[in-house]
Amino acid sequence: MATSMNGRALSRARNQALRPRIAALPRPPGLAVVLVGEDPASQVYVGRKARVAGRLGLHHQQHDLPVDTPESELLELIDGLNVDPAIDGILVQVPLPAHLDRQRVLDRIDPAKDVDGFHPWNMGLLAQGRPRFVACTPKGVMELLAEYRVPLQGKRAVVVGRSTIVGRPVSLLLDAANATVTVCHSRTVDLEARVREADIVVVAVGKPDAVRAAWIKPGAAVIDVGMNRLDDGSLVGDVGAGSELEAAAWITPVPGGVGPMTIAMLMANTVESAEGRLQG
Ligand code: NDP
Repeated sequence: MATSMNGRALSRARNQALRPRIAALPRPPGLAVVLVGEDPASQVYVGRKARVAGRLGLHHQQHDLPVDTPESELLELIDGLNVDPAIDGILVQVPLPAHLDRQRVLDRIDPAKDVDGFHPWNMGLLAQGRPRFVACTPKGVMELLAEYRVPLQGKRAVVVGRSTIVGRPVSLLLDAANATVTVCHSRTVDLEARVREADIVVVAVGKPDAVRAAWIKPGAAVIDVGMNRLDDGSLVGDVGAGSELEAAAWITPVPGGVGPMTIAMLMANTVESAEGRLQG
């Protein structure tokens, strides 16, 4: 029977561990979250981030902007947050409405406040093997693997998906942990064969059943990052259901696996940013 990797419990523990660090600071760490438009999924995510930030006593600002906000206005807001001494972390919720240039917007965030880790400066540092702010979902994936003592060194890791938010940074982190990493994507030929070889499979595609249960090698660790809302309202990952999953050694549930870790890592990055600013 595979061990279920409990992201809910681990995220609670990680959040608890932040409390004394927060209490040691002369002012609460400040997190500014910017939401443009009314995408329902994004509203849920920023709501969750606000709740956890509130529980931990962070100084939390939420900026809700109308869907037709001009880019110049959004950039102006970011410029203000970049120099606001009460703010340590800035997060612009993606996806952004189509008229906004996502890269130009994310590039505008001061890399020293880029707690989402999407700025090219932080991505570059990660690629060079000297990470500063690491994107929250990939960082959460690595925390889960570490907590459950999943061996990585010399193991074959397959990452399905190569987005800058999840797949690519996960592959860099697994590489840094000395796994031998294969990155798969929509043009990969024979995905099944790649997955069958993997000791660790991380799936971040955004499609139910992108990876079938039958492809999983017995004894593998399966990290399902996907979050797909079905017509009946239920939430499923990218890895299909099936009895073959029982032969895996570790699996992440959806929900309750990677999702809560993402938020805990955002809090951790924000506290780290405040410590850097306030404690030198
Ligand atoms: P993107 O759409 O940005 O990237 C999807 C990736 O999957 C691309 O690299 C794409 O390839 C690849 N892909 C698409 N179809 C296939 C296929 N049939 N076989 C193999 N690869 C394929 O998605 P994200 O990385 O932003 O998100 C992925 C999933 O993770 C989503 O379900 C999202 O909701 C979830 N997510 C969950 C988070 C959490 O906290 N749990 C946080 C962030 C995301 P190509 O590059 O060739 O187009």
